[in-house]
Amino acid sequence: MDRPLNVAVIGRQGSGKGTQARLLSERLALTHLSTGDLLRREATGNGSAAEVIRGYLEAGALVPDAVVDGLVARAVREAPAGCVFDGYPRTPAQVDVLDRLVRLDVVIELDLRSSEALARLAARRVCMRCDAIDRAPLGRETITCRSCGGSMVRRHDDHAQAAMRRLDAYDRATAPLLAAYERRGLLVHVDAAQPVDAVAADVLHAVVTTSPSLATSA
Ligand code: AMP
Repeated sequence: MDRPLNVAVIGRQGSGKGTQARLLSERLALTHLSTGDLLRREATGNGSAAEVIRGYLEAGALVPDAVVDGLVARAVREAPAGCVFDGYPRTPAQVDVLDRLVRLDVVIELDLRSSEALARLAARRVCMRCDAIDRAPLGRETITCRSCGGSMVRRHDDHAQAAMRRLDAYDRATAPLLAAYERRGLLVHVDAAQPVDAVAADVLHAVVTTSPSLATSA
């Protein structure tokens, strides 16, 4: 590849953007840059900065740009082949920061209705041992991980109130960014209500179509 490839995957919480960003990054040997993962890692520290970040995450509120931008800039420097951005940008100011850091090749929006997103978040469980994601049957709070046998629990911010706040933040702050990317001819919509494999195929097709040099290698 002669220059880095950079893709942003944007979508409501529950649309599968983490899964799809990971699959795409593995397929194209790019860095999966998830700001949610970076922030959750920062939040496990002991200092007051970690405590502040924990507060935002647990409330389902956006972490201040200055914190997130710093983490992203550092991760981009360590990713010379390019990144699949997952959860970034989420605000107009972050769009400007990202434009200064990289040249985006394509922006994928994973389309999913708000009601379906809420239902998926209510069922989502994350493995405490290996980070695998699965769906719990209705009424079951904890399930066993099919990959490692660990205990799978609900993320703090998947509880109803925080989940609704996060979906609201998406509609208010993030969805308007898409119009700007559309005007720049970068935006491709993918139907996220399809099975995971079908979504992954559509995402890969969108990236390959916009980056013809990949068509033979992907
Ligand atoms: P996610 O895993 O992408 O759903 O992100 C989980 C949480 O991390 C969000 O609810 C925010 O609190 C925080 N977060 C992730 N990405 C960003 C971002 N780009 N800007 C601000 N906060 C973010």
